[in-house]
Amino acid sequence: MPGQSRFAELEPLLDRVTKPIQYVGGELNSQIKDWHCGGFGPDGSELTVRWALMYPDAYEVGVPNQGVMILYEVVNERPDALAERTYSVWPDMEALLRQHGVPQLTVDAHRSVREFDVFGVSFSTELGYTNFFTALDLAGIPLRSADRSDEDPIVIAGGHASFNPEPIADYVDGVVVGDGEQAALSITHLISAWKTEGQPGGRAELLLRLAQSAIVYVPAAYDVTYLPDGRIHRVAPKPEWHGIPWRVAKHTVTDLDAWPYPKAPIVPLAESVHERMSVEIFRGCTRGCRFCQAGMITRPVRERSIEGIGEMVATGLAATGYEEVGLLSLSSADHTEIAEITKGLADRYEGTQTGLSLPSTRVDAFNIDLANELTRNGRRSGLTFAPEGGSERIRRVINKMVSEQDLIDTVAAAYGAGWRQVKLYFMCGLPTETDDDVLQIATLAAKVIETGRQVSGQRDIRCTVSIGGFVPKPHTPFQWAAQLSAEETDARLHKLREAIRADRRYGRSIGFRYHDGQPGIIEGLLSRGDRRVGPVVEAVWRDGGRFDGWREHFSYERWMRCAAAVFDDTPVSVAWYTTREREQNEVLPWDHIDSGLDRDWLWEDWQAALDEVEVDDCRWTPCFDCGVCPQMGTSIEIGPTGRTLLPLTPAAREP
Ligand code: SF4
Repeated sequence: MPGQSRFAELEPLLDRVTKPIQYVGGELNSQIKDWHCGGFGPDGSELTVRWALMYPDAYEVGVPNQGVMILYEVVNERPDALAERTYSVWPDMEALLRQHGVPQLTVDAHRSVREFDVFGVSFSTELGYTNFFTALDLAGIPLRSADRSDEDPIVIAGGHASFNPEPIADYVDGVVVGDGEQAALSITHLISAWKTEGQPGGRAELLLRLAQSAIVYVPAAYDVTYLPDGRIHRVAPKPEWHGIPWRVAKHTVTDLDAWPYPKAPIVPLAESVHERMSVEIFRGCTRGCRFCQAGMITRPVRERSIEGIGEMVATGLAATGYEEVGLLSLSSADHTEIAEITKGLADRYEGTQTGLSLPSTRVDAFNIDLANELTRNGRRSGLTFAPEGGSERIRRVINKMVSEQDLIDTVAAAYGAGWRQVKLYFMCGLPTETDDDVLQIATLAAKVIETGRQVSGQRDIRCTVSIGGFVPKPHTPFQWAAQLSAEETDARLHKLREAIRADRRYGRSIGFRYHDGQPGIIEGLLSRGDRRVGPVVEAVWRDGGRFDGWREHFSYERWMRCAAAVFDDTPVSVAWYTTREREQNEVLPWDHIDSGLDRDWLWEDWQAALDEVEVDDCRWTPCFDCGVCPQMGTSIEIGPTGRTLLPLTPAAREP
């Protein structure tokens, strides 16, 4: 019987796997709705719309994901719809499920994923693609969209990686680009109407309706043709899919206060990566860092009001019992009323067990004030700043407007206020970067230690330098840039490590963490790939590729071997997708996905990067016509509103 719990089949396997608790569900605030909550039509047909939502990584990483939690709540609030969650199973559980014929199940009611109407997968990184394939296969859903039948769910991708879904275009039925909450409800509504009509035309008709609605990008409705040299010639709607848009626009929720989700976040039974509640205080970022895809694709800035934040913190804490609240966004210190918010919350929760955190990496003294406010009673251990580039020159290229003096002043303020550990985050492999730009990181770190010792009068000052490899991303000014090869990245980082080690005065106080260049190349292949990359992912998965975001599971050798086999006798290669610079007029695989950013503006900004010219934040300066606001019919939504956080009664004194 569809919708039945399969827990009886799962249970005997649990004592044979690691961390069995991740498969049992029953977490605080999880929901199990009646499989038939939407009732039946006059002919006895099923009307309930059912979503299985997946974050394609292990439970401990996936369960805190805000996107999945939000969709879970908004869908479950509809009386005629239900949503359950599923996560990637570890290889030990995968083997047992296969051996015993148990399919991919949801963690909520342990129902088979294949029995749902929609299988929605949120990709925050492309490295989740192989895990997605595992879930499809375990669920008994054909990998390729073209092979699916009326018995299979509609497989829909979302999340930031879906701004270029082309590498998995043949494996998904639809893609939601941008904010998911309104879109999920619109899809639910559309499926509900189709079910009420008796499901005319089956799956094909439903996909056509989804494509025509423009809520969902349906890759099968578009033809991609190629030039002999490997570049894309054209992406165009297929004639038989009449009435579908040439370009599919992203969704943008304009009034965050109208969407105060998650109201009751899931509290995992097993440990997860974030043991705290998160409240999203704004979406979008207009600082214009040229490497930052998240900042570009989530424009414009939309702030949640101070009252809205206060209410979400209060209701969330009451619903979860958490003792820590994180104020989440791309750059939380940039909320126009952040000082009032942090002071209001610090006052309200002073004397309670509730801790507050602001994951902000902004480099200025204001950030220190905020951090001091939030740790009034707490320990001042570590602060993180992200100058991103080692030299002033490269920071102009990436539009990260931080001078060396800003950084020194900021760390002086931090060490002076009692902080002992500063972490600095940088990237290696940025466009136009030379060895010298990266080696300046060592000089900067030494100055940070020197300043810390002077200001605090202590010698136990530490600075950790953390470096990630830069991967050019779609819908950013660097979408045309050449990525640095893995070998060059490693060589540059090796030189930096030697330079830090050679510093006799400060080297021992500087920690150095870096990732080697190989995973970045595969991420680059998947980020800027097109439909010809899909068979590489499939080959890697068939060869045993799983959990590619995990260092211990990732195999560069496997990816390169499978890519070489798939690309054999074609004009493309891994290098062609990654280390090749693109020309202005090249059709990019994601050009038909409309992020709202004007392509000409992106190109001009790329040229400005090469000329080392900076662009201001449009929150404080006039609009520089990136295109998002007029194209999306939106505008930046910021304060100050002049209002205060309500209620102001300190929580410790509440009855
Ligand atoms: S259109 Fe103008 S105001 Fe809107 S995000 Fe772009 S630059 Fe800022």
